[in-house]
Amino acid sequence: MKVGTTARSGAVGSGSVAWTGPVRTCVGCRARAAASELLRVVAGDVSVIPDPQHRLAGRGAYIHLQVGCLDLALRRRAWTRALRVAGALDDSLLRDMLAASEDDE
Ligand SMILES: [Zn+2]
Repeated sequence: MKVGTTARSGAVGSGSVAWTGPVRTCVGCRARAAASELLRVVAGDVSVIPDPQHRLAGRGAYIHLQVGCLDLALRRRAWTRALRVAGALDDSLLRDMLAASEDDE
């Protein structure tokens, strides 16, 4: 039986397409995006902890740092599912971060 080369669906090798890295799904809007466009978060004891440097251990989830996605995640209890926690998590750290980033602009 002949297997052949591993299937690649991307346009690898064209030279003009930049490899942007792994793709993740936003837990808010469920859109797929490059991990670099999303904020990694991990579950803390009572809150969702932003992990922009990808340094924290544990199960992570990804979300757009946008109020719409935070609201969607909250409404759908996405944190509970994505981070495998029993109770609701406080997302105020993310909202603080969002507010700070908006001040920059
Ligand atoms: Zn999103």
